[in-house]
Parts: sequence; C-alpha cells; structure tokens
Amino acid sequence: MSPDEFREFGKAAVDFIADYIENIRDRPVLPAVEPGYLAPLLPTECPEEPEPWQAVMQDLERHIMPGVTHWHSPSFHAYFPTANSFPGVVGELLSAGLGVIGFSWITSPACTELEMIVMDWLGKLLGLPEEFLHCSAGRGGGVIQGSASEATLVAMLAARDRTVRRVRADNPRLTDGEVRAKLVAYTSDQSNSSVWKSGLLGAMPMRQLPTDADGALRGDVLDAAIRSDRHKGLIPCFVVSTLGTTGTCAFDNLEELGPVCNREGLWLHVDAAYAGAAYVCPELRQTMAGVQYADSFDMNPHKWMLVNFDCSAMWVKNANDLENAFNVDAVYLKHDSQGVMPDLRHWQLPLGRRFRALKLWLVLRTYGARGLQAHIRKQVKLAQDFEELVHRDPRFEVAVSARCGIVCFRMAGPCARTQELLHRVTARRSLYMCPAAVRGRAIIRFVICSRLTEAEDVARSWAEIVSQAEAVLQAESL
Ligand code: PLP
Repeated sequence: MSPDEFREFGKAAVDFIADYIENIRDRPVLPAVEPGYLAPLLPTECPEEPEPWQAVMQDLERHIMPGVTHWHSPSFHAYFPTANSFPGVVGELLSAGLGVIGFSWITSPACTELEMIVMDWLGKLLGLPEEFLHCSAGRGGGVIQGSASEATLVAMLAARDRTVRRVRADNPRLTDGEVRAKLVAYTSDQSNSSVWKSGLLGAMPMRQLPTDADGALRGDVLDAAIRSDRHKGLIPCFVVSTLGTTGTCAFDNLEELGPVCNREGLWLHVDAAYAGAAYVCPELRQTMAGVQYADSFDMNPHKWMLVNFDCSAMWVKNANDLENAFNVDAVYLKHDSQGVMPDLRHWQLPLGRRFRALKLWLVLRTYGARGLQAHIRKQVKLAQDFEELVHRDPRFEVAVSARCGIVCFRMAGPCARTQELLHRVTARRSLYMCPAAVRGRAIIRFVICSRLTEAEDVARSWAEIVSQAEAVLQAESL
C-alpha cells in the first residue's frame, strides 16, 4: 500500500469511527447473532490475491459489525467501563504509525522518557505519595503495563524475589526453591479473578480472606491469617488489597492493612484498577487513605480515565525490587547509556513494549485535569441519580449504594425474580448489565460505563428495567 493509498484508507477509517460513535445510540447494545455466526459468512482461506481496502471495509460493516457488542453505547452498564476517547484513539494510531519498541532507553529514548514524565503527571494528579514518582529522591517511579492482571503478577514476582533474598540472607543454607515453596500471599474474597490467577501463575498460594459487611478486607483478619501461617512454618510474602472491587466497588481498609504489612515485612500491592481514576478528584480520595504503606499501586486509565485499552498505570516505591527480579541482560540488549535512564524491560513481563505513553499524554493534555475531573464527577452523579430512581420504587431494593459509578440493586423478594429480570432485559438486547451476589443474594450491577451516557440515557435504561420488572411480576401472577 502506498502512502497515498494509506491517506485515503486512514481517513475512511477515521470517518468510520467518528460515524460509529456519533450514531452509536441507533444500535442495540448487544448483537443479535448466534454462536458460530461468522464462519459461514467468510471464506475458509486467506485470499490468494490482494484485495482493495474498500472491499474489506464493506465486509467490516456487513459481517463484523453485526457481531460487535457496543461497549461505548450509553446503554452499556455491564462489567466496568473500558475507556474510549478520540484523543485516545489517535494516540493508538500514532503509536502504531511510529511502531517503535521501547524495551531499552536506546531503542527509543522518547518512549521511555515520555512514559516517565506522564506517569509522574498522573501520579501527582491522583495524589500519590511522592515516593512513587520518578522525580522523587529515591528509586520510585511509574511504568505502563498492559493490564492490571500483569501489574499484580509483576508485583508478586518482585515480592517473591525480595522475600527470597531476605530469608536467604538470614538462612544461607536454604535454597531459593526451599524458600519459594513456603511463600504465601493474601487477598480478599472480593478481589478480582486476575488476583487469584496471579497466585496460580506465580505458584504462590493466594489466601482469599473473608471481608466485612461492606466487602472490605480488614487488618485483624490479615493479621490472624499471617500468624496462623507463620505458626505452620510458612513465610507470608505478598498482599493484594483492592480499592474498588469488581462485584460491588468495595474498598479494603488500607489504614489497617498497611501497618500489618509493614510490620511483618510483606509487600503490599494496591489494585485500584477501576476506582483509582476517581482520585483525580480530591474530594473522592478518602478511600485511598493508607496508600503510603503500599509498595506498589496500580490503576487502569483504560477503564475509567478515557485512555483506550491497553494502559495500566503501575507505580512502585523501589524499582530495585523489579530490576533485581527481572534483570536478564543478554549481550544483544546491552547499550552504552545503561544505568543512566531506566530500561523499562526490567519493569515488566514481556521484552517488547509499545509506545503507550503517547495515548496517555494525548488524553492528559487534551482533557486536562479539569476535563478528567468533570468526566468522573458527571459519572458519579449519574450513578447517584440511578440509585434515587431505584429507591423511589418499592418493587426494588438498593443492595449497595452508589460507589463511584456503580449501583447494585435487586427486585424485592426472592433471588429468582432478580435473575429473571436480568434474563429478560438481556434477551431484549437494548440494555446490558451483569449479575453479582451480595451476602448470598442475587443482585444486578448497574455501572455507568460509556463517556456518552447522559441523564436521558439513564432514564431510558430505568424505564426498560421497570417495564421488564412488570413483565416478571405479571408472569408470576399467572
Ligand atoms: N482488578 C479489578 C478490581 C478489576 O475490576 C479488574 C477488571 O475489571 C481487574 C483487576 C483486571 O483488569 P485488567 O483487565 O486490566 O487485567
């Protein structure tokens, strides 16, 4: 493809995206296809001869779009938001266009240096302690990971390495393997599935500790679990606390967990994948109290902060812990400026790394702190308005009051009623929500996800919920 053809193709693609977003309300949020719909529509082999891009774009609309779930529809209220903004999309495009791989400083100095600068900007914007920043006197700093899952695993592997070194320094006769076999990690029973998976991947038992009535992990529970494991001869190593759990957006009590971890020498990782974006607003920072005790902190700009997937912002207080754990300097990776600036390949799992800082930079600059704060405040308010609608209708109950942009509700009465409501709403495809459970009771999570969602959209979604609830009650009475 020549540069001129690319100009035409690229402009057509940008028009396509702009039209898609502009008219997204016209499409039902869930597609009307059955499993296996696509294979009969496409050839079984790759084309032998090159095809014009126009033909591919036609097939995109004809065959692919009918099978797309519209995550940016104002009626998408499932899971958590996945960010999308025009500056974020352009950032992706520019990153692809430059196509650099920034695993070492020398492989693209701007890739490393812009990442350090924007991670400091973002850390300051969120009110993180200075020790987490590159500009601090110590070895703190931020790095962009692909996902919160990766960040948890990176933190766990660094914690494992740090603990093995410390234990072996005191007991030189022990081997690495003997120490590793005794390590234990802790999290809550409300943490994300990716945290449990990191235990599997890191081969470290991950204790899922019980939470209090608000879904929070408390210090005394952690303390008791650590004591019990030490008593068995095990070595407590790593804690993942969550700020904004996936089910109900509960917040672990960092002010209690932090001192326990620091006293006992455990690495404390904070997973604020979704709710971390709220901290751009100073008035929403109460839930991060105690963050100063953490060794690492992660939040996803690709969830609630308008930077397209993938962009997970992770900060550590001591990058030596990462570099000690992940440093494998093959001869072909060496360069003359080594040690002057970080080589971010030592801060992550893969070798290759994209220029993801570009999209973060574009979003931070084009929205500014004020634009990001307005986005968060608007979505928090929409969730509160939805909660008010639920409160006012006696056929419903608020199961968990609005936290950030999420409200958990249910129909009054048996769980089967709530489950049937969700089943009916989903089958109609115009609104998408997810189930969860609170203290054994079925609930529905209603999350403000799309940046396009307005008060009228929430009102329309509520009208759909009410009409289907009436149908459920009517069917019960027959
Ligand atoms: N942590 C929490 C609290 C989450 O809600 C999620 C996803 O929703 C994750 C981690 C995983 O995020 P990622 O897809 O970036 O790995």
